Amino acid sequence: MTRTLYIDGEWRQSVDGAIREIYSPAYGTLVRSVSEAGIEDALAAIASARSAFDRGDFQSWSWLERSELLSRIGDLIDRDRDILAELESADTGKRLVEAQYDMADVAATFRYFAESALTYQEKSERIVDVGEEHIESRVRYEAIGLSVLIGPWNYPLLQISWKVAPALAAGCSFIIKPSELTPSTAIHLMKILEEAGTPPGIANLLTGAGSTIGDTLTSDPRVDMVSFTGGLSTGKRITVKAAETVKRVALELGGKNPNIIFADADLDAAIDFAVTAAFLHSGQVCSAGTRLIVERSIHDQVVEEIVRRAEQIPLGGPDDLNAETGPLISENHLKKVEAYLAQAVAEGAKLLVGGVRSMLAEHANGWFFPPTVLDHCNTTMYCVQEESFGPILTVETFDSEAEAIALGNDTIYGLSGAVWSADVAKAERLSRALRHGTIWINDYGPYKPQAEWGGFKASGNGRELGEHGLQEYLEIKHIWANNSPSRSGWFATQRSKSKG
Ligand code: NAP
Repeated sequence: MTRTLYIDGEWRQSVDGAIREIYSPAYGTLVRSVSEAGIEDALAAIASARSAFDRGDFQSWSWLERSELLSRIGDLIDRDRDILAELESADTGKRLVEAQYDMADVAATFRYFAESALTYQEKSERIVDVGEEHIESRVRYEAIGLSVLIGPWNYPLLQISWKVAPALAAGCSFIIKPSELTPSTAIHLMKILEEAGTPPGIANLLTGAGSTIGDTLTSDPRVDMVSFTGGLSTGKRITVKAAETVKRVALELGGKNPNIIFADADLDAAIDFAVTAAFLHSGQVCSAGTRLIVERSIHDQVVEEIVRRAEQIPLGGPDDLNAETGPLISENHLKKVEAYLAQAVAEGAKLLVGGVRSMLAEHANGWFFPPTVLDHCNTTMYCVQEESFGPILTVETFDSEAEAIALGNDTIYGLSGAVWSADVAKAERLSRALRHGTIWINDYGPYKPQAEWGGFKASGNGRELGEHGLQEYLEIKHIWANNSPSRSGWFATQRSKSKG
């Protein structure tokens, strides 16, 4: 029987018995069946997480105890990393080796928040000197409460772990809602949370469609916070739903990320990274370097080499050891990428390579689209302004530093970007002038759990990872204790003054 909903410490089927089948995006084969949560299941998960939080047991654990829980989870993720990587690879179609890297990052995330929780053993309460002897003033950090954690399909477990780990560190209860397309690793994570000793009701899981249960989860008055990673339009909808009860909303949304190459850069390295930045995981990466902004004098040399390398990238599913990138997530997504490309060409972009879905026999049952390069692009075009979330690289040129900055900032998004130059001072000026949450200099893509991740402008609100990634799940309370109340009442003071 399919019991993939985890509510109040129990594995359950959905109330109406609905089932969803998950198919491989690479092979079209059935991966697994899961319960499809409906509104009644969402309400049960909310009731479970609310009452577990309100009982207060988990919040009364010390920071050290919660840190130890996080370390145990990190160890169990390491123990099960091969199982997790295979599950992730099967759902997403990504290469096993990429999924293995992701699982190492998931374990590192739990370890980082285990360490971070330990620092709150000291920091969770701070004395404030208000300059009056009889007053004791303290600022305390407390768990925000019930958090709904909604993740995307591109890095399913990693994105969820950026939410689950700090929520546990803070002492929150929560409901995980993975993408309907990629639930498998969230199910396995829940087994790990159970085995590690997470109290019943604190962690809950709903597998199912955002379009069915999303509004319930994000508008219910019993929910204190929503942390969401996904697309801009869903993020806007969630913000509106959550506004009615003034929930905290943390948003990690899309990006249209400029990769700026100056003529004085180490071009071999810059080209190498530009190819990976655009085509890794078939461009289904929020921080993908999908906008190449290149100095005019080196345009032809750089673009020719990128096109040459793009042509050579073999596509394949997780079982294909020669593959360097995999399929798109679904037929729907493939059609969106095709429509995006057609619009770009209609707007005047010049197609240099790729552009047509793979017709190879071995790709017949999957959703494969080759690395694609579009030249002669400018910021008035849809393909420069909007994410394709596919393997499409657009090329723009610039003549001056000021123009490179203006182009890099001419987007509603502000997630990440890179600058390639041998001139350290120039690269530093750009890193300050570009309005994006992460700027790489002579590099592309690395991140660490110790440093905040998130976006400026329409790329989101708040930050994940780093110090701020834990603070998202904390409320701040000021406690003021007057040890001599008779001396300081305002009206009493006024009366005694007027009598005098
Ligand atoms: P999406 O369509 O917005 O879905 C994201 C999640 O929201 C899924 O779990 C989805 O469930 C759920 N959802 C759908 N409708 C909802 C509703 N009305 N209320 C609440 N939840 C709802 O995004 P995606 O296609 O999965 O992910 C791709 C996007 O994520 C891209 O734009 C990418 O840039 C962004 N992303 C950003 C980051 C970052 O760190 N900034 C990282 C990764 C991805 P269903 O799957 O059931 O529809």
